Amino acid sequence: MFCVECGKEGKTFGGLCLDCYIKRHNFFVIPSAVEITFCKECDAYRIAGEWKRGNLWKDVEEYIKQHIKADIPYECWMDDGKIICEGSFEGKRIRIEKDVGIKEKYRLCPQCSLRKGGYFEAVIQVRGKIDSEREVDEIVKRHVNEKKSFISKKERVRGGIDYYIGNKKAARKAAQEIKDSLKGELTVSSSLVGMKDGKRIYRDTYSIRVPEYTGKFVKLNDKLYRIASYGKKVELHGVDGDILHVYKDDLKRAVWVEIEEREAEVIHEGEDTLHIMDPRDYTTHVVRKPSGWKRGKKINIVEYEGKIYAVE
Ligand SMILES: [Zn+2]
Ligand SMILES: [Zn+2]
Repeated sequence: MFCVECGKEGKTFGGLCLDCYIKRHNFFVIPSAVEITFCKECDAYRIAGEWKRGNLWKDVEEYIKQHIKADIPYECWMDDGKIICEGSFEGKRIRIEKDVGIKEKYRLCPQCSLRKGGYFEAVIQVRGKIDSEREVDEIVKRHVNEKKSFISKKERVRGGIDYYIGNKKAARKAAQEIKDSLKGELTVSSSLVGMKDGKRIYRDTYSIRVPEYTGKFVKLNDKLYRIASYGKKVELHGVDGDILHVYKDDLKRAVWVEIEEREAEVIHEGEDTLHIMDPRDYTTHVVRKPSGWKRGKKINIVEYEGKIYAVE
């Protein structure tokens, strides 16, 4: 057999010798460009009809690999914006390099268009004593990002903050964590907001109430303390004058004690003590003199396990 191109004698492929065949033949059909739609608002992009985030070039490589047509066994990879395919035919190495073209388009991703349209599935209401708004913000953001959702709106309202959340599950997890972190109480309610495709649509409200802890009493290591300040670190004033700094988590092993303070009358001031009269039953007691107490100032007392203590 002779090659119809160069006249060489030998084995032919479609009338061509091996060299001519390799020169003429396209062993690989590689897509000339990949169409990618980028979100105008965030880092999401759509490739092959699917919105994704994260590793654009890896997704491009994946896309091209899936769309290559080849009539020989081959390997391919991407290098510096090029796609490289290698295989062999009749013992000859076939290699082809091609620039990857990207056809860019721009629009809003579905999440961003929902957010822009004010869409939300749940509301987190935080009420009461919020020590660190940033801490709450971070908790909400983290759970929202985890679910690839969004905060539709954040609103400061009387007594707290409202977060409008695009995803119910993200809202539930965030609410749970805010409750634990702020030692608040969580109530959940759901309301019917309409119908869609024959299904009832409910909107969830997670309401977290954070009580005021300053001034409350706890029993820790068998000793009674009053909470002087409550944040990430907690300052505790013992009824015996001892001052303790602990972490919020340390209070997990404390017993919360419900006692009320009442005012008492100082009838005599000693060196370290005060003689007071309890106006409730006119009994007199000797209590430790609080360090901040000055003559003429009022004194508050508490009664705990049958004993009277002065508090600052
Ligand atoms: Zn030839
Ligand atoms: Zn977006």
